[in-house]
Amino acid sequence: MSAHAIEIAIVGAAGRMGTQLLQEAASLDTLKISAAIVAPQSAHIGQALGPEGIIATDDLDAIATVDVVIDFSSPDACARVAELAAGAGVAMVSGTTGLNAEQHRALDQAARSIPLLLAANFSVGVNLLEHLVELASRGFGEDADIEIFEAHHRRKVDAPSGTALMLGRAAARGRDWNLEDVATWAREGHTGPRDNDEIGFQVLRGADIVGEHTVYLCAAGERLELTHRATDRAIFARGALRAARWLAGKPAGRYQMRDLLFGDA
Ligand code: NAD
Repeated sequence: MSAHAIEIAIVGAAGRMGTQLLQEAASLDTLKISAAIVAPQSAHIGQALGPEGIIATDDLDAIATVDVVIDFSSPDACARVAELAAGAGVAMVSGTTGLNAEQHRALDQAARSIPLLLAANFSVGVNLLEHLVELASRGFGEDADIEIFEAHHRRKVDAPSGTALMLGRAAARGRDWNLEDVATWAREGHTGPRDNDEIGFQVLRGADIVGEHTVYLCAAGERLELTHRATDRAIFARGALRAARWLAGKPAGRYQMRDLLFGDA
């Protein structure tokens, strides 16, 4: 273990991503997981989690003692963690998706006093895809109809995925639109013809799919399909741990993966 290892608390430590974070962190000597926080009433409380056998607690106050809290839990818990992290002066990384406007406001408020990085997707490939989508959308302009498809495992609880929304925003930026003004979230029945100023979303849920996203740019006589497929949840965990190392010691503010990957901060 390095003398300057960054101390981390994981919220949602018994979940799919929490489990992966504990696994990946065990092989890194630049950081140390000091707290594994699980949901209140969880059967995991008091159990040893991950390769290093960290004892699970439901006490969110445990985040006050670390350098960075990493949250992969639920929108409610994420907003609460942001509030506590701000109170304790602890940096926060979150990958939780499906936040509502009020929960985003709680994160904005927290980011006034702590560095906070929220990413709908921690993979390098998806963050590159976001750039490509904006470029392609701008390049085609009004010649292309833009549609976004995403597929995830059957236990995912929000739709469309946070990543699909992120890609939708990138496509909208390319056309100088606001996604909220042009999104078509579902189609059924006699929908009439497609509008020009529309971004459509399609969602598939099944089995153990880690995450797939395709942005279709359909022009007359040609179609560009930009696809990312995640096959291993470890990429998200590695990205979140990298974000935690990068964020520690940064000034207060709201950060994104693109600041880490492409910024000069
Ligand atoms: P999961 O359901 O397997 O795990 C979430 C865990 O959080 C559960 O164990 C749950 O008990 C726990 N939890 C709920 N409330 C809590 C609380 N108050 N305190 C502590 N723990 C609490 O889900 P998952 O697949 O691990 O995904 C978690 C979140 O991360 C989802 O929003 C998902 O969409 C998102 N996600 C993001 C990325 C990314 O790259 N950003 C990748 C995968 C998943």
